[in-house]
Amino acid sequence: MQLIIFGSPGVGKGTQAKILASKLGIAHISTGDILREAIKKESELGKKAKAIVEKGELVPDDIMGGIILEALMEDKCKNGFILDGFPRTIAQAKILDNIFATLYTEEPFIIKLNVDDSIIIDRLTNRLVCNKCGNIIGKNEYKEDYICHVCKSTNSYYKRKDDDEEVIKRRLKVYHETTAQVFNYYSDKSKVIEVDGTQSIEDVTSKILTTMNIN
Ligand code: ADP
Ligand code: ZN
Repeated sequence: MQLIIFGSPGVGKGTQAKILASKLGIAHISTGDILREAIKKESELGKKAKAIVEKGELVPDDIMGGIILEALMEDKCKNGFILDGFPRTIAQAKILDNIFATLYTEEPFIIKLNVDDSIIIDRLTNRLVCNKCGNIIGKNEYKEDYICHVCKSTNSYYKRKDDDEEVIKRRLKVYHETTAQVFNYYSDKSKVIEVDGTQSIEDVTSKILTTMNIN
């Protein structure tokens, strides 16, 4: 099974992608996580991507195409995957079309989450991320000596560098100017599932699964 989760930054893609991947037994491929890991390790990719990601701009399509091909060839993707953060441009969607034409027989499902920008800004400025496993929590859930309920590490929560108000506004602008068009590119040719992302995490997940006829 191949899924693409789509929507603006902070819409809940990462949260839902993790839940869906574990429920469906498929791999979660987050290009944002791959880039942040590369930046942390200071790899060649990380050095190229750091300034771009921290400004809220898009990493060039040829680099992203290479990353996604490499990720999809991994063993963990053999039962399927959910793409989170890719494709973000029409050029990336075309790269993905080529990959699908050679590797898979079915079209992917597209899940689109909708949340207004005003709510997004509030969510992103207030969220924290586990440094060890990427689990996301709202700031009001954070306490001192907080133990990550996913990976059990202590005090591992941090604020992403790009979750700064100016950078968030830039990311939203890039989303509306460039990435939003990718949805139109898919909507005439794929199985599209649109869900209101302001509902509770559990309700969003069950809405997605019932619309896909899975339960
Ligand atoms: P969000 O969706 O919350 O903005 P992500 O973790 O998906 O965050 O991505 C963080 C940043 O990584 C993006 O703002 C961008 O700089 C870079 N990035 C991630 N995926 C892509 C992509 N497919 N193409 C270009 N840049 C990307
Ligand atoms: Zn964790």
